[in-house]
Amino acid sequence: MDVKRLTLKQGKERLAANRHPWIFAGAIGHESGPDDAPIAELFDPRGTRIASGLHSPHSQIRMRALTFGAEEFGPDTLRTRIRAAIARRVFPHDTNAMRLIHSEGDDLSGLVVDRYDDLYVVEIANWGLEQMKDVVVDALQAPRIYFKNDIPARKLERLPTEPAGDEAPAYIRENGLRFLVEPVAGQKTGFFLDQRENRQLARTLSPGRRVLNLFSYTGGFGVYAAAGGAREVENVDVSEAAIALARTNHELNEVAGVFTVGDAFSVVRQRASANEKYELVICDPPAFAKSRGEVERAARGYKDINLYAMKLVAPGGLLITFSCSGHMDLDLFQKVIFSAALDAGRRASFVRRLGAGPDHPVSLFAPEGEYLKGFLIEVR
Ligand code: SAH
Repeated sequence: MDVKRLTLKQGKERLAANRHPWIFAGAIGHESGPDDAPIAELFDPRGTRIASGLHSPHSQIRMRALTFGAEEFGPDTLRTRIRAAIARRVFPHDTNAMRLIHSEGDDLSGLVVDRYDDLYVVEIANWGLEQMKDVVVDALQAPRIYFKNDIPARKLERLPTEPAGDEAPAYIRENGLRFLVEPVAGQKTGFFLDQRENRQLARTLSPGRRVLNLFSYTGGFGVYAAAGGAREVENVDVSEAAIALARTNHELNEVAGVFTVGDAFSVVRQRASANEKYELVICDPPAFAKSRGEVERAARGYKDINLYAMKLVAPGGLLITFSCSGHMDLDLFQKVIFSAALDAGRRASFVRRLGAGPDHPVSLFAPEGEYLKGFLIEVR
């Protein structure tokens, strides 16, 4: 395979020393080799090779370093890492749906693969990896495969954004419950696999409770809460399609639910002015901060929704709240929740910190991969 040689500028020698896979264009002094090479090698200014990996001619991330020092990178590395990541995924859960490849967390920066029963949904975020798609397909050995191709990075990489592959939905099993997953129309690859453990937690906390599930998407938390014996479960989402699928998922599991298509920010205000109370509120909004510059505005959004969510919790009840913005760290999220509690005039304590499940490992060398954080909070 063709190789692009990238040489670091003077003074940037230490760039790859911390083994972060993203090598930015600004650090490159000169380069040689074909622009369309799928593989890149990184040299220090003295000509010593310090890393190898996936090339990207157009993106600011010029290279995703996957091996360091003298270790070679090629199709075999890719194949071996994909197979190893799949082989590692043995953990005690009754499910046929899980994230098989979690990008940096599996030493495969640029690749995400989610398995939904026999359907493998693939997201490729790097130009070089797209050129090596055959290797990915061969290593995955998927009964059915769908390339979603919709992540924003693909535009920057100048890769096609039309989907390809098998479009039929899948029925998955998770902790004894069933869900219909529609990768074509759905968000992310079709289902929020990262919340599996937290859905199970919600189930154990639900018996006898009135539950409000804000930003419900296809009713993941709602189905678990209802199956756990909630007195009433209401799912709220702005997307009509998501709510329709939430209804289907409740039916599949033969559990009751209330379904509301609406803006969560106005629904919580209506409920608060009607003095409604719930013993469990779940709040799992989309990422309000898509870039670092949006963090401040996002913080106001998180504060607003959490303030009202807390007002709606009956004294002694629970709030399960999340931020999936990679740009908002745990510290800031905690501060936002603090200020929401202050303004809601409620006493509140953390019972547990929450995060993504074990099929979403985070590389110690790329800690920003820990995007999902949450708290289980008692509100008094
Ligand atoms: N908790 C879900 C995932 C939530 S994803 C699960 O475990 O499956 C975020 C959801 O928020 C999406 O379904 C999106 O349609 C919805 N959403 C975005 N903005 C919204 C708003 N203002 N009001 C209500 N829902 C909104």
